[in-house]
Amino acid sequence: MKNGSIGVKTENIFPVIKKFLYSENEIFLREIISNAVDATLKLKTLATAGEFNGEIGDTTIKIKIDKDKKTLTISDRGIGMTSEEVDKYINQIAFSGAEDFINKFKDKGDSANIIGHFGLGFYSSFMVSDKVSLISKSCRQNADEQGVIWECDGNPEYTMTEIPKGDRGTDVILYISDDCADFLDEGKIRGLLEKYCKFMPVPVQFGTKKVEEPVEDEKTADKDKKTKTVEKPWIINETAPLWKKTPSSIEEKEYDDFYHVLYPMNFDTPLFHIHLNVEYPFNLTGILYFPKIKNKYEFQRNKIQLYCNEVFVTDSVEGILPEFLTLLHGVVDSPDIPLNVSRSFLQNDQDVKKISGYITKKVAEKLEEMFKNDRADFEKKWDDIKVFIEYGMITDEKFWERAEKFALLKDTDGKYYTIEEYRKSIEEKQTDKNKRVIYLYATDTDTQYPNIENAKSHGYNVLMMDGILDTHFISNFEQKNENTGFARVDSDSISKLIEKDDDKKESKLDDKQKELIKKTFEDVIDKSRFTVVISQTGEDATPVELTQSEWMRRMKDMSVMGGGMSMWGDMPENYNILVNEDNSIISELIDKDEETRKKTATQLYDLARLSKGLLKGKELDDFIRRSLEKLV
Ligand code: ADP
Repeated sequence: MKNGSIGVKTENIFPVIKKFLYSENEIFLREIISNAVDATLKLKTLATAGEFNGEIGDTTIKIKIDKDKKTLTISDRGIGMTSEEVDKYINQIAFSGAEDFINKFKDKGDSANIIGHFGLGFYSSFMVSDKVSLISKSCRQNADEQGVIWECDGNPEYTMTEIPKGDRGTDVILYISDDCADFLDEGKIRGLLEKYCKFMPVPVQFGTKKVEEPVEDEKTADKDKKTKTVEKPWIINETAPLWKKTPSSIEEKEYDDFYHVLYPMNFDTPLFHIHLNVEYPFNLTGILYFPKIKNKYEFQRNKIQLYCNEVFVTDSVEGILPEFLTLLHGVVDSPDIPLNVSRSFLQNDQDVKKISGYITKKVAEKLEEMFKNDRADFEKKWDDIKVFIEYGMITDEKFWERAEKFALLKDTDGKYYTIEEYRKSIEEKQTDKNKRVIYLYATDTDTQYPNIENAKSHGYNVLMMDGILDTHFISNFEQKNENTGFARVDSDSISKLIEKDDDKKESKLDDKQKELIKKTFEDVIDKSRFTVVISQTGEDATPVELTQSEWMRRMKDMSVMGGGMSMWGDMPENYNILVNEDNSIISELIDKDEETRKKTATQLYDLARLSKGLLKGKELDDFIRRSLEKLV
């Protein structure tokens, strides 16, 4: 019999442990079961090394609740401990580990920010227990030797004494305190086991499960007709999770099935997956899934689960994994991510940066490979994966560089180009006077239809940029590529492009005639919002067209996205009315009398506004009446 006081030299940390991670106190279960798993794996290692020659037998870890005694017991058949080892590992090493952990974080106030709350170890059991007993016997002891029982009620006195124990291994018995009585609830424990232990490498059993088993009918030998209900041990975990297997040995369907194991409530099939598998310079495995997004605003962040040697750590991976991957689904397992530090520390940790960088690289490589191997298929997937790739490109410099090889641009005809291909195809036609290559784009093929058609009639190409990240993508693209400008197809930049094309073309009208047309329009429009610009956009182009300053429109769009604040959000929208002197309706106006000129200008002004949905209320009603009059 040995009595002692743990950590007498310093302050009593037991009351601190009890309060410390109160909101996360459930992690005690993971800590105790992880120890049991480690002890079991160590036994297997010893056996492989020839240092343990006894039977290994069934090593299932068993979890039991005793409601009467108010205990929760975790039993393993791992290496176990002699009484000297209990003294060394539990009284000394584990305790000073817990003490260090507590001292490091208790005053910082960021206890909630420690990743997965790793580091408290065995003593986390005192978060939920009045008393803890540990009964152990080492695998090196003989069958007739005694085991050891260690008990502590957190005073912090402990007792250690011999106890008969037949089998090797360890039982940890937690005397659950009254304020944590929910840990005696079967449903609660099962939920926690499912969360933390679902993929642990040693079977974990909790209770039994009723299963229907077919029985053979002796007379008919018909197997399917009869079944009987049998009680079987309920094993919580899948001990060989898919991400630990060699990718080449896995069938495609297994990946989809595994997705549904991870997300039982998600019935969609993912678009595709990336299997991460690396041993050097750090250990990292995992499977990332690109999920199907049904609605473009429906992003589920924080679906990736982080594991450490098959033990669940957290599903809040921000700061640990690259930002854009938080939109993906799947698992990442790495014992090399430091988990006993705070999140803020982790964000600046060089190793974590390397791991993040590696994952980014791997994802980019896989996407590039998909693009190269089967471009047609990649194009088919593009609309669905575009948002992930753009997000990666916008938030991660390195990913941008890599993705430039496979990121696609799609035009309004549904044709896809790589960034390089696209530039080559438009460079010649769409370079403006200042030597800037202008990328024309549409955000809505309905409202911008006339502008798209107009641009096409000049031989320009128009990109489709209607994704939720496209605005950001465009400004990033402009920053990264010199002499490049994006202009929405209804912006005034397009008229500048067209004017450049038409530099050589002689105007049919002289300055006085141009002035007359300008004045005619100015007399009928709202001059506070519309500015008349006489332009030459070709005989086939519409007589009048509304355009906006690209810059102004972007400012406005951004303030709307940012919640509608700022001066831009309140500014009225201003437009240019491009009056196309090449169109015969306009050029013939100069020969008409003033009344006809005004009537025509009004009708054209209304039509232009109508095409943009800007004609409303009384003005719309007047326009309809006027148009009807002409029918009779
Ligand atoms: P850690 O697991 O991080 O080392 P713990 O405080 O959880 O820290 O445990 C301290 C030590 O106690 C372990 O390293 C191990 O040597 C020993 N130990 C704990 N639980 C068991 C167990 N179930 N079987 C054998 N040894 C154990």
